[in-house]
Amino acid sequence: MLVCPVRDCHLPLTRVERRAVCPRGHSFDVARSGYINLMQPQERRSKQPGDTTAAVKARRRLHDRGVTEPLLHAIAEIVGALPSDIVLDAGCGDGFYLGGMAGQTGFDAHGVDISTAAVDAAARRYPRCEWIVANADRFLPYADGSFSIVMSITGRMNASEFRRVGRGHLLVAVSAPDDLRELRGAGRDRVQRTVETFANGFELVERERVTTVAELSAEDARDILTATYRPREAPPQRVTLALDLLLFRVSGSGYRS
Ligand SMILES: [Zn+2]
Repeated sequence: MLVCPVRDCHLPLTRVERRAVCPRGHSFDVARSGYINLMQPQERRSKQPGDTTAAVKARRRLHDRGVTEPLLHAIAEIVGALPSDIVLDAGCGDGFYLGGMAGQTGFDAHGVDISTAAVDAAARRYPRCEWIVANADRFLPYADGSFSIVMSITGRMNASEFRRVGRGHLLVAVSAPDDLRELRGAGRDRVQRTVETFANGFELVERERVTTVAELSAEDARDILTATYRPREAPPQRVTLALDLLLFRVSGSGYRS
């Protein structure tokens, strides 16, 4: 189901010891922690694309202290009600949402993110899921129709690729206007624009807003600032986390409609 990311290749990848190789001889490393790095040299514009190690660690500590638990709960409730034998999280970060749900439900879980630091953290914490470093903005390295559910939790949105690799549902979470309001003030409502992004190939079947207000310890506050790349701001005492959850069903025929 994993396919070669090289342009015009896209043949199946097979694991051979510590490599993933395609029939044309393109070859990718399997890291010690178990993830596969499918980034190609020309894609590595910066040394560390995506989230930094410091932001990944801060976010993991916040997850571990339960700050984001209500968000996971709301997402797991939606996913749990769907047929979910094989799930992709595009922009999986440190794997908190996908790994947490896979541990409870036992579905076949695949996560992809552009940040090596984040995917390494995911692979160490949730070794039974499959983790890939790749640029999902360009190409999702999976065969057509691979996944019963595709998720994008505050991640990038590649509608045509989500449609190509998905065959059931798409769950998109975007920041709601109140998200991090103590840090950035009221934000935009992204629902309308997100629905338009997925108008071709998907149909909206459910929407829900989940909001939680977390009282922060000094350590939590520092981690929130690190995780949101605001190292110099005054630490907040509480923070609102709010997501708009949009559930779509794939519609129409053909993967590239
Ligand atoms: Zn290839």
